[in-house]
Amino acid sequence: MNALTLLMSIFVFSFILAFAISYFIVLKEEKLQYGKLYTKEFTVKMFVYRCRLAIKNFTLISILTTASLHIIGDSFFSFEKIAIWKFAFLFFVMVAIDDVWFYSIHRLMHTNKYLYKKIHSVHHQAVPPIPMDFLFAHPIEALGAAFGLILGVLVLILLTGNANIYVLAAYSFYRTLHELEVHSGFQIIPEKYLGLIGSSKHHFNHHKYHKGNYASAFTYLDKLFGTEVNEKTTK
Ligand SMILES: [Zn+2]
Ligand SMILES: [Zn+2]
Repeated sequence: MNALTLLMSIFVFSFILAFAISYFIVLKEEKLQYGKLYTKEFTVKMFVYRCRLAIKNFTLISILTTASLHIIGDSFFSFEKIAIWKFAFLFFVMVAIDDVWFYSIHRLMHTNKYLYKKIHSVHHQAVPPIPMDFLFAHPIEALGAAFGLILGVLVLILLTGNANIYVLAAYSFYRTLHELEVHSGFQIIPEKYLGLIGSSKHHFNHHKYHKGNYASAFTYLDKLFGTEVNEKTTK
């Protein structure tokens, strides 16, 4: 199995998982109470409507990723079994790079009124969001956000001479799980135990106030640049 096949398999599996979890929440929403951030009012019709754009974006992201990895070339991908500390470090690098990238483009799409109106407002139409709504966005935004993964690959190559395929596979899977969680509308682990890890509540507040909390994986960028929003900052 080459790098591309493995990553695409993870992509497809993640998408099916996102679809299944979202459908489950739409159907069982009334019975799920623990950690619920708001009352949802869903219909299967809304779910189908959101799925159409999500499937389109998933296809575009897969094409962009396939083309980018093909251009980078197989010789830059390694199947080497690396030490756990190195795996953890490289995984963290991927998360950090992608987070800085997403914070930057997300903040730009809010501060530039033209970009907000033409592109980012689509994502904010998903009210209330369901887990798979991280894919409910204008296609340009979906492709822009997906570029964070490619950026991470390039940084890994600069740091180590290649991109370890197990790190990429783990990161791709984590990324989808994280996005599903922050759009789920449920805060399962209380925020006080998460430190600087971006929580569901953190992104929920972004959708609630339509501004601030631009980062996704961590909260330190919003704290550092004064863009954090919550009940206290909006008083
Ligand atoms: Zn936004
Ligand atoms: Zn969102």
